[in-house]
Amino acid sequence: MALRQKIAVLIGGVGGAKLALGLANLQPNPHLTFIVNTGDDFWHLGLKICPDIDTLVYTLAGTVDPQLGWGVADDTTHVLDSLRQRYAIDTWFKLGDQDLALHLLRTNAMRGQVSLTDFTSMIARRLGIAATILPMCDAEMPTSIHTREHGELSFQDYFVRQRWQPVVEKIAYDSGQAAGLSAQVREALTCADLVMIAPSNPWLSIAPILAVPGLRELLMALPAPKVAITPVIGGDAVKGPTAKIMRELDLEVSARTVAGYYGGIIDGFVDDLRNPHFSVAGLRTTRLDTLMTDLERKVALARDTLDWVRGWSS
Ligand code: GDP
Repeated sequence: MALRQKIAVLIGGVGGAKLALGLANLQPNPHLTFIVNTGDDFWHLGLKICPDIDTLVYTLAGTVDPQLGWGVADDTTHVLDSLRQRYAIDTWFKLGDQDLALHLLRTNAMRGQVSLTDFTSMIARRLGIAATILPMCDAEMPTSIHTREHGELSFQDYFVRQRWQPVVEKIAYDSGQAAGLSAQVREALTCADLVMIAPSNPWLSIAPILAVPGLRELLMALPAPKVAITPVIGGDAVKGPTAKIMRELDLEVSARTVAGYYGGIIDGFVDDLRNPHFSVAGLRTTRLDTLMTDLERKVALARDTLDWVRGWSS
């Protein structure tokens, strides 16, 4: 293994960012590349919004709102208040004033033909983030949600406006217009000593990444170990709609279902101590405390996962 371990992580938003912080605080520190879901990106009030990238950026920069897990800590909402009170705009998507600064910069960059990959790297550098943060691709690949009550909804209409209450019948991952893998994502995966799938929502955060043309095939061909961590603990999600969606799609709400979903891609699966034991032929499994309630437990999960994988070769 290389002197400084290279780890590439497929990752969504708030749940994934907890593991990201654990990895970023490891000693000795590995070289980290986060390949982030952009299936929930959209344009709103003329602004390019990238919720998962921003959650990761703010988390790793140490400026994230600790209560929400997204947005900027101690942010104000003067712009949003003004839009609502003076101009009668429906401000269903929350954007704080400091958060808007990043959105203005990004939108300006996009209009100037700067790629999302280049812009995100520039922001990460400016905020002093050591890790590399990459969007899963530069093309727009919006996820849409087919619901029983409202038919097809755009992602944020379902997730934020409707508070993920409609019943999901199908999830559609865009791939038609995509340019495919960026050179940066290809290199990060090809050079990685270890690929991890964060305990993010498999259907809303990881599946859109796997839908990027060429990415699944590249992952399957990589010689490096590939490990996923369960987002399901004790028959439920820690937060968000993962378990609700599984029930609506007639899937058993279990870590085994998640491991099966990543079948063919991963070599190892980190389950939670609280979950019933299961085994899948050809898949290494271990059970750890995956509930990341504070920084110490985030670091411990990152360290224990890496130690487990290191043991494979001995
Ligand atoms: P989102 O894009 O903001 O919804 O966040 P993610 O997709 O990255 O993460 C959502 C998932 O993270 C949910 O399925 C949660 O169950 C999972 N999650 C959140 N916190 C934890 C935790 O402490 N441990 C584990 N194992 N999973 C977690």
